[in-house]
Amino acid sequence: MSAPTATAPFTGLSALLDDVGRDVAEIDVRPPSGETAVFGHDAGTAPRHGSPLADGPAVAFPTTVAEVQRLVRLAARHGVSVVPRGAGSGLSGGAVATSDQLVVSTERLNRIVEISPADEVAVVEPGVLNAALNDRLAPLGLFYAPDPASWRISTIGGNIATNAGGLRCAKYGVTRESVLALDVVLADGSLVSVGHRSIKGVTGLDLVSLFVGSEGVLGIVVGATVRIRPLPVARRTVTAFFDSTAAGAAAIGAITASRVRPSVIEFLDQPTLEGIDAAQRSGLRARGAALLLIELDGFGIDEQTAELTAALEAAGARVRVESDTDAEVLWELRRSGRRFDEGSWYAGGDIAVPKSRIAEIFASFPTIEARHGVALSAVAHAGDGNLHPVVTLPIPAGADPAVVPAALHDAADDLVRAALAVGGTVSGEHGIGTVKRALAAEELAARVRSAQFAVKDALDPSGLFNPGKAL
Ligand SMILES: Cc1cc2nc3c(=O)[nH]c(=O)nc-3n(C[C@H](O)[C@H](O)[C@H](O)COP(=O)(O)OP(=O)(O)OC[C@H]3O[C@@H](n4cnc5c(N)ncnc54)[C@H](O)[C@@H]3O)c2cc1C
Repeated sequence: MSAPTATAPFTGLSALLDDVGRDVAEIDVRPPSGETAVFGHDAGTAPRHGSPLADGPAVAFPTTVAEVQRLVRLAARHGVSVVPRGAGSGLSGGAVATSDQLVVSTERLNRIVEISPADEVAVVEPGVLNAALNDRLAPLGLFYAPDPASWRISTIGGNIATNAGGLRCAKYGVTRESVLALDVVLADGSLVSVGHRSIKGVTGLDLVSLFVGSEGVLGIVVGATVRIRPLPVARRTVTAFFDSTAAGAAAIGAITASRVRPSVIEFLDQPTLEGIDAAQRSGLRARGAALLLIELDGFGIDEQTAELTAALEAAGARVRVESDTDAEVLWELRRSGRRFDEGSWYAGGDIAVPKSRIAEIFASFPTIEARHGVALSAVAHAGDGNLHPVVTLPIPAGADPAVVPAALHDAADDLVRAALAVGGTVSGEHGIGTVKRALAAEELAARVRSAQFAVKDALDPSGLFNPGKAL
């Protein structure tokens, strides 16, 4: 517990920190300093080249819901905006904060309150790590399905605020499908509970769905009731290698046309396989130029495997059922992925398209590469049409690495427009944050945007929470 010192450069924040020190000294609050600079950005916006922020935001570490309410009320009184923050693993700038803002970290709101196998729910505080919940559930033969690749480091609260996806979404849906009820602290400091513990429930407007994916602009999630499920009786990993990216992308439709619904369908194109081999000393490229990495689970695993194999072989794949040991290695390779050397600029993306249009997006790469003089590659959560393209460009000798050429972002924007043109969306799972607001405005009709601002206004009329994000 530290009594905050009033070193904040802005009057509102200085006065807020003085009040916190006087009235609620039990809350650990750090004033803006070089030490809080890490709270000024998230994983997607952290400076890769160049100097870090001189001064970060003020950061509070409440340990109870009542403390969150006190902080929000004091911030509102002093006109200091509040940035909710989980683990800061976001990739869209949603948790970015400046030195005149107060970050409310959920790091110490990290209790698993209840696990009820009978109701198939868990009740958690927002700072519980996704992996920590699954570690508690596994010995009970249960699991929490949403599994962003960041599951070891990201919080359930952050997953809810971003409506995080993950590998298993192909079968179990995104985070929204696993959230039944939420406790939320609103901008006036009040605490509301929305949703229900029952699996069903349609009373009133669905405010749970509104808060899920709202990127911290409507309130701070301080509690969640989430669905849990029995661990599958069996899991099996199947690889399908192809002679070209185009052949692999085209084969995704063969899985859709079959009666098998894998729990995971990941597609890795040729540059991605080469990048993983270079970073991890693996030998994926020797097996083919594109890979569908698939997990089946549940009862009837042999029947599922047979039907899947037949569908993929008919689409030209070399199919192998992997041993458990090899499967573990393959999934780790997928999750840790390729690494980008210091000698290149790169920009990541997160578009989603209808499943039947994935191949068209891969087919658009050469045109976009030629237009902007960059290289493109992508992995795709192919089961739900979500692609993560990466744009790269070698940094020429003598160039300032901190000055990223416009070509990178222009190419990334072109990919987004390619997705929109086939009925897709600017973000599949990472959110809008600060980095995709202009593109979101291209996707959303003016009347829809004004309706979204009206919702924000109704819940947070003074714009306390996360200004300049998401909307
Ligand atoms: C290596 C890596 C892999 C990733 N893989 C995936 C993936 O497969 N799928 C995917 O969807 N994402 C992925 N991400 C992105 C990121 O991990 C997710 O967006 C995650 O849900 C963010 O959780 P967090 O706790 O880090 O939240 P933060 O980054 O701290 O915050 C994210 C947003 O949520 C808000 N927020 C956080 N907590 C709360 C709360 N309690 N109440 C209200 N608002 C809140 C913040 O204000 C911000 O807008 C990946 C990131 C990395 C670094």
